[in-house]
Amino acid sequence: MFQGDTIAAVATAMSNAGIGIIRISGPDAIAIADSVFRGKKALAEMESHTISYGHIVEDKGKTGGISEGEGTKDTGQVCLIDEVLVSVFRAPRTYTREDLVEINCHGGILILQKILRLLFSCGARPAEPGEFTKRAFLNGRIDMAQAESVMDLIHAQSELAIRNSMEQLSGALSCRIRDMREKLLYEIAFIESALDDPEHYDLDGYSDKLRNQVENLSAALERLLASSKEGSYLRDGILTAIVGRPNAGKSSLLNALAGRDRAIVTDIPGTTRDTLEERVRLGNLALRLIDTAGIRESEDRIEQIGVEKARKSMEEADLIIFVMDASLPLENEDCKMLNQLSSHGYLEHSIILLNKMDLTSILSAEQIQQVLPQLNPDRILSVSARREEGLDLLASAIERMFFTGQVRENQEILITNARHTYALQEARKALDLVLEGIDQGITEDFLTVDLMNCYEQLGLITGETLEDDLADEIFSKFCMGK
Ligand code: GDP
Ligand code: ZN
Repeated sequence: MFQGDTIAAVATAMSNAGIGIIRISGPDAIAIADSVFRGKKALAEMESHTISYGHIVEDKGKTGGISEGEGTKDTGQVCLIDEVLVSVFRAPRTYTREDLVEINCHGGILILQKILRLLFSCGARPAEPGEFTKRAFLNGRIDMAQAESVMDLIHAQSELAIRNSMEQLSGALSCRIRDMREKLLYEIAFIESALDDPEHYDLDGYSDKLRNQVENLSAALERLLASSKEGSYLRDGILTAIVGRPNAGKSSLLNALAGRDRAIVTDIPGTTRDTLEERVRLGNLALRLIDTAGIRESEDRIEQIGVEKARKSMEEADLIIFVMDASLPLENEDCKMLNQLSSHGYLEHSIILLNKMDLTSILSAEQIQQVLPQLNPDRILSVSARREEGLDLLASAIERMFFTGQVRENQEILITNARHTYALQEARKALDLVLEGIDQGITEDFLTVDLMNCYEQLGLITGETLEDDLADEIFSKFCMGK
């Protein structure tokens, strides 16, 4: 077991809130907490997984008086700092598998910092980002894929993303990977035994059996890899362009989408462009709306952005929502735009929205079908942006477009992590080499090289074959206090 020092960090957001939680983990966690805690009994006497009421105090004689000044009540030698609830968790049934203490205190930044400094003065060390989870990994409670899912869960942007990270956290992906590694190891061991001990292990006819096994594994890898595109829609959201003629209702649609859950709408600087992206949640999904920085401004940004930008955003988009005003007859210009969707090959990922269905409809789905007979009729939907009607249908249509049945029912594992995707690709390449080798009649001992390579690549996902510095790098991207 990994033996570390004792670390402490604020686990909740560093802002003024009702409650803040400070976490302490390591061999001296309970002793260090005890030296700043006054309750009915000492934490060292508490049973594991129980919570105790008391106060955080500073014994100036002991700590040299770091909390001189405002906000604390001086009672002679001992200063009351906060009223708290302290939980004690004894190793090994804890998040880190070490002794773990959580102090629930008042959530003011100053109080949190004061208690934290007090703990440092009593022997704890500031935790690095992700260090608690790293200890859970080093102590074998979770593997790397599970550790990474913790961060995915924290950053999840949609219901589907939450479900998928929970699956991964519970070990669904790890289990699949371990199963494949076991099979590889079995073949490697068999070949090596046969080479060592030809009398008891027979390699005659073995290559057909191996080919069969390798083909199965390769198909399984392929399925996981195929899910990584869906995984990126889950993780990052679906890059969406809303286009259409002036007055069709694009801005109204944006506002209806954003207005459904304003708290979730955030501006994040686009990574590849200089413009802002707007994230909105629609049903189970997260959409990243392109070039809609003005969504909360009254002025109309889409028209300002101009035709060239609209063309560009359609090119980049995973999804195009083409908004039409159904209270107006179909005009030549509409037909031209519809045909352009088709001629650019965008139809596969387009949805035609007949907006303003609260008014008398002049434009019908049939008319659109006449212009675009090849369009799947499920892709034409009627909505009212103004009344926010039909948005649920829009959500389910998009979900059907981007996620297969299994994913929606949560039966299939989705790869959401670029590191995992890369390892899976390398693993598959190694298996391709094994198959080539079998075809060329290469002797078995050479095949084990590529089998071993595949085994190690898969081990990168669960962390078994990950170098320490790479593991450190992954954890360094974690949140503070996690
Ligand atoms: P844009 O130019 O495509 O962004 O269209 P806007 O969202 O600015 O809408 C143009 C006009 O149509 C505005 O007066 C909206 O209030 C109106 N509008 C948009 N959606 C609807 C709708 O669903 N029903 C009705 N009756 N009017 C709508
Ligand atoms: Zn507009």
